[in-house]
Amino acid sequence: MDVWVEKHKCTGCAHCHDVCPVAVFEMKDRDSPDANNDHAPEADKWKGTTDADVLAKWKDVNDGHHHFADKFDGTSGGLSVGVNGSACILCQACLIECEGECIVITDDAGTVYRSIYK
Ligand code: SF4
Ligand code: SF4
Repeated sequence: MDVWVEKHKCTGCAHCHDVCPVAVFEMKDRDSPDANNDHAPEADKWKGTTDADVLAKWKDVNDGHHHFADKFDGTSGGLSVGVNGSACILCQACLIECEGECIVITDDAGTVYRSIYK
């Protein structure tokens, strides 16, 4: 299994980090050199800009999260990175919790699974 995050859509909500039973995700500060430490293709790497439609959807939401914060504070903020994709058991919990609909999982047969926020 390979797991990566389309970084330009990640709100930093940390839902994936919280629900994954096998610790696939780590939250990184947006300026961290490790922010692209998964297998996201070039177009989906963090380049310092969040998609405008994702910003518009989440920037004013007051749900206790620090959306788009530069720093991860232990609860939210920063960016999620799929650092441990080989451990994924395809439970799909992250796929239904991802605010940015930006998690991509590819199984060993090449089937691709994407986030659909509940
Ligand atoms: S589908 Fe994989 S990466 Fe997502 S929560 Fe389940 S084990 Fe973790
Ligand atoms: S659930 Fe999605 S939007 Fe939230 S931190 Fe994880 S990858 Fe980013």
